[in-house]
Amino acid sequence: METPDYAKEVEEITVDDHSLVFVIDGELWYPKDVHELPKVYCAQYHKWYEIKDELVKWNDEDWTRNSCVIPAMEYSTLEYSIEVFAVLGIAIVNNFYGVSVEDAFNAVQEAFKEREYAPGSEFPNEREIKDVVLCPLCLQPLNVPPGNLSLPEREDTFQPPWRKSKRKEGEAEALQLFHTYPLKESEILHTPKLVRYGHRWCNVAMADHSVEETVDFMRKVVEEHERKSRES
Ligand SMILES: [Zn+2]
Repeated sequence: METPDYAKEVEEITVDDHSLVFVIDGELWYPKDVHELPKVYCAQYHKWYEIKDELVKWNDEDWTRNSCVIPAMEYSTLEYSIEVFAVLGIAIVNNFYGVSVEDAFNAVQEAFKEREYAPGSEFPNEREIKDVVLCPLCLQPLNVPPGNLSLPEREDTFQPPWRKSKRKEGEAEALQLFHTYPLKESEILHTPKLVRYGHRWCNVAMADHSVEETVDFMRKVVEEHERKSRES
């Protein structure tokens, strides 16, 4: 994998007393300082492999102390991140707090203006914002079940009392962060145009595919089932 166009390459990674050290333009950078780097840097796979024998010995504490890296595919710019938060916020206040899409959109525009921030071309416009409050796959509001179907009650299952219950997160209508186009390392796809909230069932059904590919797949599944029931 080449270093993505949006990043510069880390020359070398070494380990110094349970700390990662990045060599960038001949200088040594420790995890506590990397946020001061003026650009985005990417360390390629083979550079991690060179220090893997050391890293496999690390415990959770070591990793927490060194938590300064993310997978390249999850990288987004500061501007995109702010705009994604705004988009997701509009979806939440519309679906769960009774705020109209227009009012939420205008409030966001106002907040941007007050801070002299002009959103980029990936930020939805007045017309596109209406779709932001819907699940990207089933196109239903987030405050109704997937596909607006009435879902059968699920039987209770054993939950170990010593573990935090994740039952709610596992329900079909739970909300999940949704990438309408699967993330890649080579380009930034975590953008306000492509990140949404959606139903868990819809998100799981997408696996690692785009909305378009998923709809094609679902159409094929339905056709096959209809064909089978016609034959029987
Ligand atoms: Zn849905």
